[in-house]
Amino acid sequence: MEIRCPHCGHAEPDAFELIEVNALHDDFVCAHCKQAFGACIRNCIRCDFEQALTWRVDSVPDRVAELPCGQCGHIESQPDALDNV
Ligand SMILES: [Zn+2]
Ligand SMILES: [Zn+2]
Repeated sequence: MEIRCPHCGHAEPDAFELIEVNALHDDFVCAHCKQAFGACIRNCIRCDFEQALTWRVDSVPDRVAELPCGQCGHIESQPDALDNV
């Protein structure tokens, strides 16, 4: 598992230990290109698949819980139970 910078592709394997699983962190700074980016380690509650997601700061999703699992497609949040009209 490694965090890969969305700007230059630089991988930061150690960054994984610093961040909380299933929480969005938008204050990463790449050690290589010094640009800021957002990152999240997702652990699917259905299939237990773990993946590292990164975004440029201007395209970080509002809610990471609405992103589908990369393996089984499970979406943690249930938007139809909230404000999907
Ligand atoms: Zn970079
Ligand atoms: Zn899954």
